[in-house]
Amino acid sequence: FSVENLSKDDAKSELVKLVNQLNQWSHEYYELDSPTVEDSVYDHLYEKLVQIERKYPDLISPDSPTQKVGGDVLDDLSKVNHKVPMLSLGDVFSKQELAEFLKRLVNNNPEVDAYNCELKIDGLSISLRYENGIFIQGSTRGNGLIGEDITNNLKTIPSIPQKLTHPVNIEVRGECYMPKASFVSLNEQREKDGQKPFANPRNAAAGSLRQLDPAVTKSRNLSTFVYNVANYDDLNSNTQSGMLKELQELGFSVNDTYQVARNESEINEYIDKYTSKRNDLSYGIDGIVVKTNNLKLQEKIGHTVKVPRWAIAYKFPPEEAETKLLDVEWTI
Ligand code: NAD
Repeated sequence: FSVENLSKDDAKSELVKLVNQLNQWSHEYYELDSPTVEDSVYDHLYEKLVQIERKYPDLISPDSPTQKVGGDVLDDLSKVNHKVPMLSLGDVFSKQELAEFLKRLVNNNPEVDAYNCELKIDGLSISLRYENGIFIQGSTRGNGLIGEDITNNLKTIPSIPQKLTHPVNIEVRGECYMPKASFVSLNEQREKDGQKPFANPRNAAAGSLRQLDPAVTKSRNLSTFVYNVANYDDLNSNTQSGMLKELQELGFSVNDTYQVARNESEINEYIDKYTSKRNDLSYGIDGIVVKTNNLKLQEKIGHTVKVPRWAIAYKFPPEEAETKLLDVEWTI
């Protein structure tokens, strides 16, 4: 496949096919919590879509997955409007692409001189709202602007504090995930009961949260890590790393592997460290997130309709089994 020689007419029909296929897979993944292809297959086709759209920007349709976050929300759960949109993350698949991202970032924003490196937890994003330190509402990301109200389900998760250490008003964002051990035993049980096993821990976590009965969520042993603030007037820190420390002090579960890096080679060290430690962790990670550490700069750099421009996800290469699948299933 070479986008250079693609005529506009061919691009048009190719885009229709790609958008339809990707939207179908997104529906299965986000709304049904039951994907039919590996993520690497989806990512490969998505990249092809991006390349064609880059060559012919006037052909970009509003329905394209590059123009929207996540999927639609389920009708049987109540809706929550996100005052601050819940975004996705841009991604890179090699250190070379990461280097190009960093170069662009610093060229456009020479003040950027530190990054916070974090693990990319393989779960689904949640938003948690507290009034006077009391947990009052929790929701899914949904399509980024409207999510599903899953407050009662989130109340069953032990790592989510019902009451913070200080009576503050705050809304935070984080990841809800299913630990590897819980995933294995859940799927064993489902197979015994003649139910379809979940494809991966992320879909298992999503299926377990988007439930009408909180008792089901409770039985699934989910956990959380909080990594961002959406609304908080009392924040003292002016860095991402300092903010994570404050969130921990408020009582949130924060993944404490984060590390500040000053340059590309320190970022690569962090990546190498967790690429080799990945299998020893009790929860799944699918990459490393690199964030501009200065919060004022984050705000200044801003975001697209879909992703922040001040951060990037370095995705781990797919496992061998997934690569094989890719050869077979990537037919478009
Ligand atoms: P994503 O999961 O790749 O990355 C964005 C998300 O990372 C954030 O929304 C947040 O929830 C999470 N995250 C984890 N740790 C974080 C941290 N420390 N800081 C910030 N965010 C953190 O993006 P997405 O938009 O949720 O989904 C795209 C992914 O879904 C792709 O990998 C794609 O392959 C997959 N997908 C697969 C299918 C399929 O059919 N297999 C369909 C659609 C999408």
